[in-house]
Amino acid sequence: MLAIHNLYKQFGNLIAVNDLSLTVNKGKTVVLMGPSGCGKSTTIRAINRLVEPDRGSIILNGANILSMQPDELRDIRKRIGFVFQHFNLIGRLTTAENVMLGLVMSGMDKELARAKAVEALDKVGLEQHLGHKPSELSGGQQQRVGIARALAYEPELMLWDEPTASLDPILVREVLIVMEELARYRASTMLVVTHELPFALRVADEIVLMDQGSIVEVGAPAQVFVKPVSDIGKKYKELIE
Ligand code: ADP
Ligand code: MG
Repeated sequence: MLAIHNLYKQFGNLIAVNDLSLTVNKGKTVVLMGPSGCGKSTTIRAINRLVEPDRGSIILNGANILSMQPDELRDIRKRIGFVFQHFNLIGRLTTAENVMLGLVMSGMDKELARAKAVEALDKVGLEQHLGHKPSELSGGQQQRVGIARALAYEPELMLWDEPTASLDPILVREVLIVMEELARYRASTMLVVTHELPFALRVADEIVLMDQGSIVEVGAPAQVFVKPVSDIGKKYKELIE
């Protein structure tokens, strides 16, 4: 479904992503891990062109995202759900309105947008909170609104960039449960950047380890965390033991 080929991005003299190639098959969950600053966000943000790479190709269902014109890009972004570390909800809007907003802005009829929002909020277990403001929700619930906002588009690909990184440990769990549900039971296609090792072990079909802009290891969790070949893989193995 997604094929990244020789992706390269330099910021000044710094090579953030160095000829990286990666594929994600339909219905699979690929977890991208590696030390801070190794290029994970740059890679994942390039997929919907929040970062403009210097070269390479990113093919989603046969179309190269990196050669798309603005109107094509607008359409493709609706088909890619993106969940960030900071959920950036709008404080004066309710939960349902936060989820509806993008749909309505992109031209969807308000009633249909509301129905889609309710359905998405139901998937993340927030059907009881449609009328609440973000300030009335916990951090975990707010991030679940962020997830619903992405799900409302019924995206063919979900990208997650450290979705639990700004939550305190007690709230991390409820977000991981929602993510696991999406991966397992709804067969979403997901590329996830996370440091949550137990989640990665349980849920990933494939682990991709990065170091200094390059992929250093790819494999099933049982392979990467049990018989790692890379230095980074060996460090993760020690963390698990
Ligand atoms: P990660 O998500 O793995 O922590 P990033 O992709 O955010 O890593 O960053 C990779 C490298 O690129 C880091 O050294 C970071 O400082 C640098 N970098 C990222 N974004 C920018 C930017 N907009 N301008 C300059 N340097 C950047
Ligand atoms: Mg990052």
